[in-house]
Order: sequence, then C-alpha cells, then structure tokens
Amino acid sequence: MPSKIEFQVIESESTFLHPRKGFSPTVEKFEVRIDPLTGRTGHFSHFGAIKPQRLSLESYATPEIKGFCPFCIENRERVTPRFVESVIPEGRLSRGEALLIPNLFPYDIHSGVMVMTDRHVVSLKELNEQRLGDAFSLGMEFLKRIRSIGPSLPYHLMTWNYMPPSGGGLVHPHQQYFATNHPGNQFVDELRASETFFRTHGLNYWAELIEVEQKIDKRYIGQIGSSRWLSSFVSLGIFGEIVCVFPDVFSINDFTDDHIRDLVSGLLRVFEYYSATDIYSFNASLFFGPEDQKCFSCHFRIAARTFLNMRDYAPDLNFFQALLSEPVSVIMPEELCKIVKVHF
Ligand SMILES: [Zn+2]
Repeated sequence: MPSKIEFQVIESESTFLHPRKGFSPTVEKFEVRIDPLTGRTGHFSHFGAIKPQRLSLESYATPEIKGFCPFCIENRERVTPRFVESVIPEGRLSRGEALLIPNLFPYDIHSGVMVMTDRHVVSLKELNEQRLGDAFSLGMEFLKRIRSIGPSLPYHLMTWNYMPPSGGGLVHPHQQYFATNHPGNQFVDELRASETFFRTHGLNYWAELIEVEQKIDKRYIGQIGSSRWLSSFVSLGIFGEIVCVFPDVFSINDFTDDHIRDLVSGLLRVFEYYSATDIYSFNASLFFGPEDQKCFSCHFRIAARTFLNMRDYAPDLNFFQALLSEPVSVIMPEELCKIVKVHF
C-alpha cells in the first residue's frame, strides 16, 4: 500500500561561467523540498560553503566579556523575580543545580526560566546527564503545575537558546518553559496539518512518519526507549535539524520520568556529535499539544547554530528566514543522519 506521507523533492541547477575555472560553464545543483506535513518548502544549497565556527568559551568567563549576569549564584537571590504565591507558593523551585524562576520578560501568562547550572560558562560536554535530567524534570513539573492552574492555556512548550550564535542573550545556560494559546506559526501549522491528516487517513501522522522513515532508512537515526530520532526531511536549521518524536505522548500529562530519561539520553548523543564536529550552539524546542487528542505527538527539535565568521560575527540567518520564512540548509538530511547515527 502506498504511504500516506509523500516526500517531494524538486531538484534543479544553475549554470554560470566560473571565474576560478577560466570562465568555463559550471553547474551548481540545489534542491527545494516540500514538508510532507505542512506543505512548507525548504531550500538546500551552498553545500560545504559554511563551516561551524569555534567559540572561545574561556573568553566568555573573562570579566570584560562576562559583564553582569543575573543567573550567577551571587546575584540570583537579589535580582531574579519570584513567582506569585498562587502559581508557585515557594517563590522559586530548585532541583540539583536547576533553578526555576519567572521570566522577567514573559512570553505568556505563565512563563518560567530554568537556570540550568551554578556555573556561568558550561560547555556541551559539561551539560551532563544529571544537569539535563534535573532541568527537564523540574521544567516538566512546572508545566504540569501551570496546566492544572491555567487549563485555558492548552499548549505547553520548552524552548532553549544555547550560546550566543543561537540568539541566546546570556551565556549562562537556561531554558524557557511556558503555556500559551499562541505557540507560534510552526507549532500551529503542524498541529492543524496533523488534525487534517488524522481526519483524512484516520492515523497519527507522527507514528506514521516514524514507520515510513524507518522503512526508507535514510533519515532514521534510532530509538531510545520510547523516543524515536530522525533527521528532518525539511530542516529548519542551516546545519539540518534533528527531531525526536514521542509517539505515545500527546499532552504534558503523558510525559513521564521515563520520557525525560530517553530525551536526555538521546540529547547526550546529539551533543557528542556536536562536540565532534565543532558545533557550539543550538536552538531547541519541545512541543506538547492539547489534551484529548491523538493526532499530534510530542516532539523535540534541535538545530545547530553558528556565526558565519568570527571577523564580524555575521549570523547564520538572513533574508531567507527573516523575510521569506524559508529555511535554508547546507547539509542534506540523509548525510546528517549518517553522521549522527554513529553516536546512537
Ligand atoms: Zn552567569
């Protein structure tokens, strides 16, 4: 039976007279792919032209670059906010090194920041199982609490900018956890398309995607417990994107300690791959759909980020993402899968 999921690729090429090849005709290939769920397109071009840039983590700790950090231990008590009593009676929550505080610049009614570590500069290798486990489990506890006090906010998210190339305003590792009615265009497009897929085929797109990807075996990275790891057919990140699907989790209520353990375990392997390829920065998100549905599985997404160069710190996003809402990747998902799989 043909799959309900269609992977469409539009391959094309451009010919020009190359100055470094005596102005002889040269053909450069590129691809446009159509996301099988949302129908959104993504470009794949510029292969090999962009390399991840090394960050000098030591310099981030020097006083002239570090400046004032509200998340550092000596400042926290004094300068970070506390939750109101009706939300978190304790004011702030902690577990191991993880500390949950309200966001001084909230994204929604209930908006928390997870300071993940005591230390200001923490490398990927130092984001170990304990630190990740404590941050995620405390974050999930917070999301479950705000779900029970604010059931009118149906969507729950974790978002994470790590290190300056990702847009992170503070080097000190931190994540955001919030509930909202307005989770962003990507989330809403995926949710609506998942509902349509369910109505049309009577199937959960995400479970179907895993099955199809596993069969094709070009972008399927592996399974850890109940989590399934893939490289996305259309990547949101310039160096591709890795997605982890929890097919049996639909809302925050379903997410257990076992899921956290599987997520952390997979993430440590992704970090291993990042460290091996000089990637120092990323954006990540974890999406939870509304209750009482079986069409939109929870999924985690991570995309590596870099400066284009260390001379003028050009960011790796440009008019494509900013104005055309079009992702561009310089690595093919099938290639990314091969490289990451070694660590799984
Ligand atoms: Zn700090």
